[in-house]
Amino acid sequence: MTVTIVGSPHCDLHDMGDEHPEQPARMYKINDQIIASGLDYVLHFADANPAKLSSLELAHDKAFVKSIFDRAPSLGGEKIWLDDDTIMMDKSLNAALHAAGAVTDAVDLVLEDKSKSAFCSVRPPGHHAGRASSSGFCIFNNIAVGAMHALEVHGLDRVAIIDFDVHHGNGTQNIVEGDKRVLFCSSFQHPFYPFSGAEPCRKGIVNVPLPAGTTGSEYRDLIKNWFKAVDEFKPQLIFISAGFDGHTEDELGQLRLVEKDYIWITEQIKALADKYCEGKIVSVLEGGYALNALARSVVAHVKVLAN
Ligand SMILES: [Zn+2]
Repeated sequence: MTVTIVGSPHCDLHDMGDEHPEQPARMYKINDQIIASGLDYVLHFADANPAKLSSLELAHDKAFVKSIFDRAPSLGGEKIWLDDDTIMMDKSLNAALHAAGAVTDAVDLVLEDKSKSAFCSVRPPGHHAGRASSSGFCIFNNIAVGAMHALEVHGLDRVAIIDFDVHHGNGTQNIVEGDKRVLFCSSFQHPFYPFSGAEPCRKGIVNVPLPAGTTGSEYRDLIKNWFKAVDEFKPQLIFISAGFDGHTEDELGQLRLVEKDYIWITEQIKALADKYCEGKIVSVLEGGYALNALARSVVAHVKVLAN
């Protein structure tokens, strides 16, 4: 099955400093591991276009998008803080535009039958960015922009977003909650940053808070509700917020997942995509900061998509 890796060299240029865990080396490690695994022979690769303003405004408030453009530094060495953890330097806006554009490109490829599925290997990540806010390393909400593009531009009626990052996809929930066309399933360590998701939510949101120390076998049991919800919803396209910071080697979180758990979850999602949407999946990188574990997990995830 064709899988296209959609990325951009612009995503490597956003640099929040050597001490910051969300760093360009994440991209280099993933690329190296894809080549070392030999997967590059079976994958297709596409260079992302920058997201259009009209695409960003499907998921974000116009005034918020304008404020990001207005505040973005244009000179080398200049920096602004969007929150305590999220910095923009002169190359950050362009990286963020290509990260979101990768997802709309991936949606086009998959819905126009040019690729069965796609993995957007991009940064900055997106799932903490809300309708009118950037936070938690995220500038724009890449996956929400892609989901809205599938609904508004391609005219789909139902899409599902499955988020297995160690952190709650609070930004994505903020954007899609109440939209009957979107099912959002998120699992996350709780209580933990961003300290949301455990409260009762509207229909269409399936949150699974996980205690610190959750193992792979416990995880598999806890997220069963997702699959029931997807079965009832019957999505026409499945998006994955693929964050690998729940890996046991990742010090940002305290879950105990390993590559075989990411293989398992990808297999479950793929089976649902085969059943309801001709296998169409758009997966988007979110977190993952233990560089070796991140790269191995991405390759394991993409391998399942490709088989
Ligand atoms: Zn995360």
